[in-house]
Amino acid sequence: MDLDGNYRNLSESKKPRASELTKKMREIDILRDRSIIRCPSCRMNDRDMTFNPELKQWYCVQCYREMGEFYYQQKEARAKGLEHDDFNEKFYETFLD
Ligand SMILES: [Zn+2]
Repeated sequence: MDLDGNYRNLSESKKPRASELTKKMREIDILRDRSIIRCPSCRMNDRDMTFNPELKQWYCVQCYREMGEFYYQQKEARAKGLEHDDFNEKFYETFLD
């Protein structure tokens, strides 16, 4: 199944109803996740928000800044051989200006 919830090898008429429903539910999830309502990191909903174009998500400006700062902290720690094993560099990289 691809990202649109379709079964690529089936014709339109054979596409199961379940696939349509799955697709609709996924669209709702995506809309909710990408909405500006709530920061996915701190869950606050009353802060100024900023858009992360790579993740296609809105984060509050405070978390956005902290993510960027964390990136540099981890890079520094790595240089000293103190790197955290679970540091997701690619993720935090998206928060750099
Ligand atoms: Zn936040």
